[in-house]
Amino acid sequence: MARSYQVIDHAFDVVVLGAGGAGLRATLGMAEAGLSTACVTKVFPTRSHTAAAQGGIAAALGNIKEDDWHWHMYDTVAGSVWLGDQDAIAYLCHEAIPAVVELEHMGVPFSRTEDGRIYQRKFGGHTTHCAEGEMAARSCAAADRTGHAVLHTLYQQCLKRRAQFFVEYFATDLLMDEDGTCRGFMAFSLVDGTIHRFRGKQTVLATGGYGRIYESCTSAHTCTGDGGAMALRAGIPLQDGEFVQFHPTGLKGPGVLITEGARGEGGYLTNSEGERFMPKYAPHEKDLASRDIVSHAEGVEMREGRGCGENGDYIELHLEDLDDEVLEKKLPGILETIRVFKGIDARKEPVPVVPTAHYCMGGIPTNIHGEVIDPRRGGPDAIVPGLMCIGEAACVSVHGANRLGTNSLLDIIVFGRAAALRAAEIVNKDEDVPPAPKATEEAALSRFDALRHNAAGANAGELRAKSQAIMQKHFGVFRDEETMQEGIDAMAELADGIDDIGCTSPDLHWNMELMTAHEVKNLYDQSIVVAQSSLNRTESRGAHLRDDYEERDDEGWLKHTVAWLDEARKVEIDYRPVHLETGRDDAKPFPPTERKI
Ligand SMILES: Cc1cc2nc3c(=O)[nH]c(=O)nc-3n(C[C@H](O)[C@H](O)[C@H](O)COP(=O)(O)OP(=O)(O)OC[C@H]3O[C@@H](n4cnc5c(N)ncnc54)[C@H](O)[C@@H]3O)c2cc1C
Repeated sequence: MARSYQVIDHAFDVVVLGAGGAGLRATLGMAEAGLSTACVTKVFPTRSHTAAAQGGIAAALGNIKEDDWHWHMYDTVAGSVWLGDQDAIAYLCHEAIPAVVELEHMGVPFSRTEDGRIYQRKFGGHTTHCAEGEMAARSCAAADRTGHAVLHTLYQQCLKRRAQFFVEYFATDLLMDEDGTCRGFMAFSLVDGTIHRFRGKQTVLATGGYGRIYESCTSAHTCTGDGGAMALRAGIPLQDGEFVQFHPTGLKGPGVLITEGARGEGGYLTNSEGERFMPKYAPHEKDLASRDIVSHAEGVEMREGRGCGENGDYIELHLEDLDDEVLEKKLPGILETIRVFKGIDARKEPVPVVPTAHYCMGGIPTNIHGEVIDPRRGGPDAIVPGLMCIGEAACVSVHGANRLGTNSLLDIIVFGRAAALRAAEIVNKDEDVPPAPKATEEAALSRFDALRHNAAGANAGELRAKSQAIMQKHFGVFRDEETMQEGIDAMAELADGIDDIGCTSPDLHWNMELMTAHEVKNLYDQSIVVAQSSLNRTESRGAHLRDDYEERDDEGWLKHTVAWLDEARKVEIDYRPVHLETGRDDAKPFPPTERKI
């Protein structure tokens, strides 16, 4: 029996969970539309992972050389290996141009060309003339600190619109009605442990990705995908979990990211023989091929004995040939990161890199308005009333099987705005905020209480390390049935421990153990879904590369995976069709063909 807790009630037109780029852009739009809006976050807004984004945000502005949003669309479709929904991709690439201009007008300090326009650099997989022309210069960058600049600007704009922030509150569970409508969520204050009920006419999940299911990843420690796990507990599926992007240039050891912009500015990769190997794998794009291709190529080089160093376990990134001025003006953060984490001066020496988990293409399925989809509720595009999801937590899907660099900052801005537009349309400001359903609130409180009062329970940190190591070993760049099945069995052995996680102290003031306990359970549930979805897809596509099914199989697998997790942690898998039409007159779809980029 749960102890009784006093619950502090909050009611708003909209409650946004998460204050990264997606959450802030949505909050801003909602506040502008005159909706009372709360933005709830476990870290201070400008410390969200968006702050770490380096390379830039894509838009076919054509400031450096000719460009066209249809080419951007082609690259995104081909980069997604046709698994992206083309209505969503057309919307993304079309809206990119006004979205970046809007950010500029809000005050994002973009780097500039000599004549004062927004500076744009090359990035992997972005081409001109639908991969028939040269590489495009499409990434709008604020040096190599673009996410930081965007996040600070958005936060300031939200404050100007008087949006209300609840900072350092940890959300635990969604509040779902008996008829499956979302009414808000439960949270506790990290500062003093008070319990809060956030009710809204719309709830927006903007909780970011789950990169931390892996041992070596570029994501912040906060990227535990809490929103995805909350959705799973509420009976809502995750889509395309098998697609996890490995970035080819994570710093060997700490896993910290070296932006692809480093190669966009002229950096290149070599193996232990000093050979520039990328032209072998991608004669046209070379070092700027899509991330799945470069990461896989690195893996093959190392596996075939051409990795660098004593153990042959890394690849070298060369920035020594770049002008000092380019390095200091366009990549200052990278130089510093390499110096601080490896003690290397990248102007003089090569940098050791390895493929590192970077981005979750999968997430909670949504339509292009950010409304959450659950096919069990009446068809492939049936929505969950009252619930939206945006950003890396969502799977719209614009990235399909592989995300192009700079398309995620774009995704969070474009769909953050889209969710706000939709909320302004459907939320009636004059109605009362509906009451919260008692049953799910009580379930949330007993979960909270059970974690808090289990002093003899299992240690969350130890289980996290075990689970991350299994995911790293069995669900990395190379996959086959045997390795993945072994991984699934090893994960199953951790289940009892996960169910028994506790805290040595029930204290409610800044009890980081209590927060970690929640996060580790969330990570574990998502790992199970990623693992089962990966084993289930018997083809190779984008980031999901299998040694036992090397070919892409459009006939069998041009479809989204949707996976539910039941209370016994059994995964149930079904499928949704990919939207191969754009649904608009100004953009023709790109039918599946052989991939050129
Ligand atoms: C190192 C790095 C570099 C990158 N560089 C680029 C780039 O150059 N270009 C590009 O396009 N993309 C880049 N990406 C990807 C991109 O930055 C992210 O996908 C994107 O910023 C995610 O934004 P978000 O708003 O969805 O989530 P986040 O920024 O991760 O924010 C999540 C928010 O949710 C809150 N939250 C989560 N769980 C809870 C909870 N339980 N309770 C309360 N609050 C919660 C957090 O406090 C946070 O505010 C990069 C990613 C990384 C890791």
